[in-house]
Amino acid sequence: MNNINVISISGGKDSTAMWLLAIERDIPNLKVVFSDVGHEHPETYDYIDYLEKELGPIIRIKPDFSKQILRKREVVNTKWREEEVPENIINQALEVLVPTGNPFLDLCMWKGRFPSTMARFCTVELKVRPMFDQIYVPIIESGNQVISWQGIRANESLKRSIMTEIEETPEGYTIYRPILDWDVYDVFKQHDKHNIKPNPLYMQGMGRVGCMPCINSRKEELHEIARRFPEEIERVAKWEGIVSKASKRGSATFFTSDHRGHGINDVVDWSKTSYGGVQYDLLKLMEEVPTCSSQYGLCE
Ligand code: SF4
Repeated sequence: MNNINVISISGGKDSTAMWLLAIERDIPNLKVVFSDVGHEHPETYDYIDYLEKELGPIIRIKPDFSKQILRKREVVNTKWREEEVPENIINQALEVLVPTGNPFLDLCMWKGRFPSTMARFCTVELKVRPMFDQIYVPIIESGNQVISWQGIRANESLKRSIMTEIEETPEGYTIYRPILDWDVYDVFKQHDKHNIKPNPLYMQGMGRVGCMPCINSRKEELHEIARRFPEEIERVAKWEGIVSKASKRGSATFFTSDHRGHGINDVVDWSKTSYGGVQYDLLKLMEEVPTCSSQYGLCE
């Protein structure tokens, strides 16, 4: 039995630093995997190509929800009719329920809603399950052991602070967290040491990269995304229209928390306001986009 070391990379700083550490330690049997969820910024896709060119091959996996969408069409045609869902809702669902090949959008059409902080099915469906099914299971079935490297750091959150470096999972693979004790400066130092540039989004005001935006985005982060990358907001607004049609209620919004408004454009408007959301913050609206507002002082 061999140990196969699987490193999942997101295009973010921590997973890149972890890959560099594995290279430094000359770890054998290394598989580097990127799960494309279809909701990343184009610069992250370019960065994945850059890492591959500089560091070595990356296995790209892409979740596929075509079967679930086709099954949902049957449910709409049968169960929704039995439940006397209005015919216009049924017709508009059948109009959009066709797989697009974009995993995030297809997942939301299948579920008839966007994920939320209370229903965070996106991580499991877009990242955990595809990684397990497409990468871990074949390794385990061929009689080898999976060592799953996780690039998380204890000082990121209370939950992470109590995690251990090694953990055995009930599914039969081992989790290894080699940068648990690192801080954010160690992470960027690791990039410097290996002459690898961090994802350029960190130098454009983003504290994190990955889904753009993430359902957990903070108010300031959303404001920053909206003014720098309005096309990402427009894309999500279009998705809201499509997912609404695939929903039995005939409506679905990206941020479901009701105190923040409805569609993403409302939430973006709210993100421009001062505390409490009552007034627009004039200073914020007049602010120029800075040349570097990296939260990590990369250009300082
Ligand atoms: S980054 Fe955010 S939106 Fe994307 S899968 Fe993770 S929790 Fe969901």
